[in-house]
Amino acid sequence: MIIWDDDFSQLTEFLRNQPEIPFLICDENTYLACGKNIEERLSNSKIKYDIIIYPGNTHADEKSICQLLIKTRENSLFVSIGSGSITDLTRFVAYKQKLRFISVPTAPSMDGYASPVAPLTIDGLKLTLTAKPPENIFINMNVIKNSPEILTLAGFGDLMGKYTGLLDWQLAHIITDEKIDFNIVKEVREICDSTLNSIEKEDFLKKLLYGLIRSGELMTIWGNSRPASGAEHHVAHYLEYKGYKLYHGICVGISTIYVLDLYEKFLNFLSENTQDLINYELDIEKWENHIKNIFPNTYKRIFEEYKELLRDINNKEKRALIINKLEENKDYISKIIKETLNHREKIIEGYKKINFSTNALDWGITTEDMKEALKNGCFIRNRFTILSFLWYLGVLERFV
Ligand SMILES: [Zn+2]
Repeated sequence: MIIWDDDFSQLTEFLRNQPEIPFLICDENTYLACGKNIEERLSNSKIKYDIIIYPGNTHADEKSICQLLIKTRENSLFVSIGSGSITDLTRFVAYKQKLRFISVPTAPSMDGYASPVAPLTIDGLKLTLTAKPPENIFINMNVIKNSPEILTLAGFGDLMGKYTGLLDWQLAHIITDEKIDFNIVKEVREICDSTLNSIEKEDFLKKLLYGLIRSGELMTIWGNSRPASGAEHHVAHYLEYKGYKLYHGICVGISTIYVLDLYEKFLNFLSENTQDLINYELDIEKWENHIKNIFPNTYKRIFEEYKELLRDINNKEKRALIINKLEENKDYISKIIKETLNHREKIIEGYKKINFSTNALDWGITTEDMKEALKNGCFIRNRFTILSFLWYLGVLERFV
């Protein structure tokens, strides 16, 4: 549940009335941003508490998890004060230790506040592990308003990614009969529109943060990340894999614009005769060598995930089924793509207004790497998106 609490009075009252001992979890930055204020309020109210203050650049990894475990009491009530890493490590330890947990966001930077999973770095690798969402989220907009600008850009990028994510989901539903909930599609779409419409207005940050939290909640309700992530996330993950140390939402925000361009090319392509695509044949050996080259450590998992798809990709009958589905639904597919593309100018204008460059080069991403990410992002995870579909059709190289 979201509780708008612009002076932390409700948080203080809440904590006073719980049987557990509050455990404030922050880093140096979030301590200054509001942890200190919360601590003072608890002291003044004579509420006993514990606190841990991590260094400013803390990651949710073995070390930080262990540090929290060591200090945890049997009757701790976790209060995570922060954004990505702090919330992730808290939700993971809360889940493992079966402790209650509430969240105090400090920036509108990501959509994971209400998430039931935590991306952790274990042995240097990113893993997504089961965790738990907070019972309540106490939001102090005065804190959010003072958060660093780059974090707002990251959150905005993560939210704009929903536009392409939703298109991918609808396309997957049409082509592969993947389950979909149109109420969720509608709600996420409305959340994005209303955030976009609020730029330069008083309630922009509030809408943005609400949108991020709500889209995270909808992932939980739906049971997977479909409502909030698609090709743009795969491209972003590839960039992260290449070693770009940008915020997740920044990578997603940039990728979204490139994926929208791909959708436009796909739309034009739909007016061509697509029947010929039945005859496309993938050179599987060549593809496998390519994957081994670019993913030397994880290619086995990718082969495993793509096993079924590879078995059928050159099967003409099965290809015909897919291509016919595409042919039969061309009008409908064109319609939903147009609906989003009609919005593209407005989306790009939104980026401009908040000073978020949509040019990858401005963020230090080379044109070559961006192309590589578009060509290979879909192999990070086997999920139907515009990228994996164009690859299946044999036209991805031509579009990028
Ligand atoms: Zn994301």
